[in-house]
Amino acid sequence: MFNKKTIEDMDIKNKRVLVRVDFNVPIKDGKVGDDTRIQAALPTIKFLLNQNAAVILCSHLGRPKGVADSSLSLKPVAEYLKRLIPNPVYFVEDCIGTAAEKATRELKKGEVLVLENTRFHTEEKNNDPEMAKQLADLADIYVNDAFGSAHRAHASTEGVAHFLPAVAGFLMEKEIQFLGQAITEPKRPFIAILGGAKISDKIGVIRNLLDKTDFILIGGGMANTLFKAMGYPVGDSLVDDDVLDIARGLVKQAGQKLRLPIDIVIANKFANDAEKKVMATGPIPENWRILDIGPDTVTAYGKIIKGAGTVVWNGPMGVFEFSNFAEGTFAIAKVVAESNAVSIIGGGDSAAAIKQTGLAKKITHISTGGGASLEMLEGKELPGLVALMDK
Ligand code: AMP
Repeated sequence: MFNKKTIEDMDIKNKRVLVRVDFNVPIKDGKVGDDTRIQAALPTIKFLLNQNAAVILCSHLGRPKGVADSSLSLKPVAEYLKRLIPNPVYFVEDCIGTAAEKATRELKKGEVLVLENTRFHTEEKNNDPEMAKQLADLADIYVNDAFGSAHRAHASTEGVAHFLPAVAGFLMEKEIQFLGQAITEPKRPFIAILGGAKISDKIGVIRNLLDKTDFILIGGGMANTLFKAMGYPVGDSLVDDDVLDIARGLVKQAGQKLRLPIDIVIANKFANDAEKKVMATGPIPENWRILDIGPDTVTAYGKIIKGAGTVVWNGPMGVFEFSNFAEGTFAIAKVVAESNAVSIIGGGDSAAAIKQTGLAKKITHISTGGGASLEMLEGKELPGLVALMDK
């Protein structure tokens, strides 16, 4: 159950509404690439405009170092948004200060104003109360629809909520409901598929999911550290040596619940044109490295996924950026999409893999937040959510 107030619980009519969205989208040569996150924010924006609100949008983009950086401006996003909604869309080149105050004052009901990148101020990441207050002063109501940033306690995601009536947008609500339900009342069997580069990022997730899931299927670079912890030489494979002891403990504690690849694809260099071999899991020859899961693993994991009631997937099964080592990731993407399970995908790479298979429509929910969804799977509270008003 979603226990936070949403925009439907508020009298929004004719109000000035500050909406924290997640417009952290890829920009190349001043043009928006994948627009998934912009599209995902539209239901909230349109709802507010239908209520005749003046809609002020703020977001971060990329990782500027607390100063203005034109390559990370939100202006191209504002331009892009103009094509998606009929209402007037304006842009102002700061998110606080006189320019922002003037632009919001002049903004009329039924119009949209996009503020410049919040991370052009160091105060954003420091969750500086003064910046939060300045943001709050621009509006009557605060809406957080930036699920992808909800795991960060920043001025625009958390701080500002202390100065205004603060509620969730539709995207935030949807994301929390899907992920929350999968974790707390999953249709069983409940399967987690975890991949990606480093296991250190996901140890907390494995720990939290061990007593909630029926199986955890491991792929990607994460498996290497577990193999090494079990005593296999792993050649030149990517390994997190710092967490070998923890990995050993996990393998012991998890028993049969934690599944590792039974065969792997190895390469003689880290490149798409490397020589490659499929081998049963075992000692990796010197100077070779694991870059994908093998076909027997795809079959074995596939059987488990086909019988699943709920599947949560985060992280690719191999170095899928190299077409020659992408097979495992795409095969798993296909099985997940074709299964009848409630399927939830988090993380940009797994979402991209699903989209490339053309089967994204068959997924129950593709999350817009990789980090935030991982923190939920880890059992952590999201500060951006906690700060909103309870129902
Ligand atoms: P993450 O951001 O942790 O989800 O990791 C995604 C990255 O993991 C992708 O860029 C993959 O190339 C990488 N990855 C997956 N499998 C391996 C592997 N066996 N060795 C090295 N990197 C891998």
